Amino acid sequence: MWTEELKEAAAFIRERDDFLVVSHVQPDGDAISSTVVVGWLLEKLGKKYTMLNEGAVPSRLHFLWKSSEILSLEDLEGEPPKKFRNVICVDCADYARVGRTEQWFAPAAELLNIDHHPTNDGFGLVNLMKFNAAATAEILFELLDTMELEPDTSAATAIYTGLLTDTGGFRYANTTPLVMSMASRLLQAGVNGPELAENLLERMSAGQLRILQRGLSRLELSSDQRIAWLWVTSEDLEETGATNEDLEGLVNYPRNIEGVEVGLLFKQNGEKSVKISMRSSGTVSVAAVAQAFGGGGHVRAAGCRLTDPLPEVIAKVVGEVQKTLDSL
Ligand code: 5GP
Ligand code: MN
Repeated sequence: MWTEELKEAAAFIRERDDFLVVSHVQPDGDAISSTVVVGWLLEKLGKKYTMLNEGAVPSRLHFLWKSSEILSLEDLEGEPPKKFRNVICVDCADYARVGRTEQWFAPAAELLNIDHHPTNDGFGLVNLMKFNAAATAEILFELLDTMELEPDTSAATAIYTGLLTDTGGFRYANTTPLVMSMASRLLQAGVNGPELAENLLERMSAGQLRILQRGLSRLELSSDQRIAWLWVTSEDLEETGATNEDLEGLVNYPRNIEGVEVGLLFKQNGEKSVKISMRSSGTVSVAAVAQAFGGGGHVRAAGCRLTDPLPEVIAKVVGEVQKTLDSL
């Protein structure tokens, strides 16, 4: 039962001390928000903790409480200062998503896995997984309630940020009555909703606009017009001054075309590594497609990474999506 699972997760936290808190590689709004919410909770309980991510905190999330204290392996060299026995993983669809933060786990580390991805295989000693949660932040709000901790404005802002970003501004199919009631409570706790929406969803950097311009000029459609895709190379990023962060949201353009069932974005990362973002109108489960390539995610939003040259990756993935669509 869900309340029992919440209690078990609460016990994992209460009975231990000195935690490592990690989320997934190339962290997004929910990943960073969830990291700081766990940090906030641990601080409230007077516990010792270290927050760590393989990548850096995206600059538009720097406003979040103590996000500047999240260590990034990009800035650190050599051996970890110590290894942690108690690890809390948030928003990680599978164990591989923790990336190189694993180097900070003690060999006998015990993991609390808090996540909302349906492809999560329950890699923790304790697993707090709710597959119909809009965001990991939603689960954490329930955990705070279980532990009788009322979020202050800082914690509320982080939870709201996770909900806002993972629901695309309270618009996607995961925007349930529970999400809206949580948003209501968070606004009452002092969250500035319009300001967060403006900064996180509306504002575009110059690099973002330039990469959008270039990406759209390459839009391709399958012959049946049900799959649309864009691709971005490493040179594109260099020439436009765009960062990885500026690519977020780009996949929505192919996805939003009338009649398109699946939108894809191929991001080249070096010579032979391509990150693929997949979005579906719901007819096709892109989680299943991504999983076939070693990735994962949700029915309507998923991703994976392949190590082949870009044209081969495009052919392979578009082919797989087409096969899935044709079989329906
Ligand atoms: P995005 O396209 O925004 O990077 O990711 C969409 C969704 O798919 C997210 O929920 C994300 O966690 C999941 N996802 C993206 N890439 C991967 C991957 O390589 N492996 C797994 N398991 N999930 C991924
Ligand atoms: Mn999430």
